[in-house]
Amino acid sequence: MQFGDIRVTFLDGGRLSLDGGAMFGIIPKPLWSRTVSADERNRIALATTVLLVETAGRRIIVESGIGNKYDAKDRDIFALSEHWMADSLSAAGVDPASIDTVILTHLHFDHAGGITRQDGTGKAVPTFPRARVVVSCGEWDDARAGHFVMTGTYRTENLAPLEASGRLECVDGEAEIAPGVSVRPLPGHTRHQQGVMIRGGGKTLFCPADLIPTSAHIGLRWNMAYDLLPFENMKTKERVVEDSLRGDWTLVLAQDPAWCTWRAVSGPKGVGVERVE
Ligand SMILES: [Zn+2]
Repeated sequence: MQFGDIRVTFLDGGRLSLDGGAMFGIIPKPLWSRTVSADERNRIALATTVLLVETAGRRIIVESGIGNKYDAKDRDIFALSEHWMADSLSAAGVDPASIDTVILTHLHFDHAGGITRQDGTGKAVPTFPRARVVVSCGEWDDARAGHFVMTGTYRTENLAPLEASGRLECVDGEAEIAPGVSVRPLPGHTRHQQGVMIRGGGKTLFCPADLIPTSAHIGLRWNMAYDLLPFENMKTKERVVEDSLRGDWTLVLAQDPAWCTWRAVSGPKGVGVERVE
């Protein structure tokens, strides 16, 4: 997709499956199973979408997918694909050393897992050796604080090599990362999740990350049991959906297994989504 001078390419960051009940929070299965099918272990299939953003000599990656540093137990629990972001970059002919900036919306393992890779000795090292990695300050602090309910998803092998590399760049609140590329806070799913906005040629692309992970999550009540601040998440979603309707944004619903670019539409039964081709 093209946004003025900014070119955006969508890449497969790897696939996983998560418990359907956890993915839909307070929505009962008889409702969510009308549109989403679960496997024999009640898991639903999810994508992870990584964006390659190219503008004015800059090469930016948004999100990093699941990565490939998992043992057999994790692979089984989450039905993880072997394929990860590096395979997609390689297929697209993109050298990881040519990436100057990475933006992460938050640091859960299915968003930050690709930020490091295993070297020949099994040690985790940064996947993008020359990139600064932009994370919200509060998210980084929460991820590194070792809060007991979060240690399963804020994984040391993703975070410690990044800290040691000296390439971590924390931002507070709204910030412009490159011309036409900015971040804005989306409190709720985590306390300091941030969305990524790309603006050019009169058009807007917005990545709401786990605020609206799939097309089935556009409704204000359709949220994840993983959300740390459920009510605040709903208020944030209400604001984002209103803004996106007003501005005709294209939304990247990055974990939708079938399609990643959508627009919110207002109809007689409330707000829904339709594909942006
Ligand atoms: Zn998350």
